[in-house]
Amino acid sequence: MTDVLSHKRFQDEQAAYDWVEAHLWPHGPQCPRCGGLDRNTKLGGKSTRIGVYKCKDCRKPFTVKVGTIFEDSHIPMRQWLQAIALLCASKKGISSNQLHRMLGITLKSAWFMSHRIREAMRKGPLMPPMGGDQSQMVEADETFIGRKADVTKRRGYSHKHAVLTLISRTSGEARSFHIDDANAANIVPIVKANVAKETMIATDEASYYSGLGKDYYHGQVNHGAEEWVVGEFHTNSAEGYFSIFKRGMKGVYQDCSEKHLHRYLAEFDHRYSNRIKLGVDDQERAARALKGAKGKRLTYRTTRGVRSQSDEAPF
Ligand SMILES: [Zn+2]
Repeated sequence: MTDVLSHKRFQDEQAAYDWVEAHLWPHGPQCPRCGGLDRNTKLGGKSTRIGVYKCKDCRKPFTVKVGTIFEDSHIPMRQWLQAIALLCASKKGISSNQLHRMLGITLKSAWFMSHRIREAMRKGPLMPPMGGDQSQMVEADETFIGRKADVTKRRGYSHKHAVLTLISRTSGEARSFHIDDANAANIVPIVKANVAKETMIATDEASYYSGLGKDYYHGQVNHGAEEWVVGEFHTNSAEGYFSIFKRGMKGVYQDCSEKHLHRYLAEFDHRYSNRIKLGVDDQERAARALKGAKGKRLTYRTTRGVRSQSDEAPF
C-alpha cells in the first residue's frame, strides 16, 4: 500500500495542487465567478498561500478548491490525494479509523474526507443509458444488507435495506441504487431510466422483473430451481459485485445507516466500473474520482451521522 503513495504529489503541497488543477482545470485556471479562462494570474510571494489565483475581471482571488469537495477544508491537499488514492486502491474500501491512523489526521477529519470522496465518486443523474441494442447485455439483480432502523427483525428481507444493481457486461460499468423495497414499482422505473430499450437484460426469476420483456430482450434464470445460466443470460457479474460489496460493508465499514448507503454504493460502483480488468490502474481510478470532485460540495450538516458501532460519524 505504501507504493500507492510514493509519488511527489503525496508529499509536496505544490505538486498536489498541480495535480488537482490539471484534472479540474483542463483548459487552465478558471475563475469560479465569471468562468473566465484568460485573465487569471497566479499570485506569488512568500505570504501567499499555494494555489491562489486572481481574476482581473472580478478582482477576486480564488483557488481550485472553490465549488468542490475540498472547499472549506483545512486538510492539506496532499493528504486529500493520499485519502483518494487509498480509497480507490482498496478493493473492499478503507475505514475512517484506518485512514485516521495511516494519514495522521483526526478520526473526525478522516470520516468527513471519506464521505466527501464518496460524493466525488457518485455519478450524476444525467448518465447516458447503458446498453443500446440487442448485442449488449445488462444484468439486473438485487440484494439486501444491514438493518432498517425501527423495524423488527423477521423472516425474509423486509427489515433490511434493499439495493438494486445494474451491470453492463459490455462496458463493465456498475450502477447501484438504494431502494425502499424490492418491488416492480421501485425497480422497473430505475431500469428504464438507466438501460436503453432493445438491450438484453438478465435477471433472476423474481416477479418484479417480469414486465421488462415489453422493452427489452429479457432472459430470466431460476435460482430457486438451481438454474444459473440460460444461454447468455445469467447474473454472475452482479453476484460477484454483491460479494465484494458485502464483504466491504461487513468487514471494513461494519454496516451504515440508511442515509449514507448511497454513498457507499457510489464507492463500490466507482471501483468496479474502473477496475484493473477494464484497463484502469490505481492512478487512473484515483484521477477519475478526482474529476468528480467538482460541484459536489458537502457541508457538515449534510454529512452528519448518528452514533453507532459502524463506520458512522461518532461526533
Ligand atoms: Zn472572474
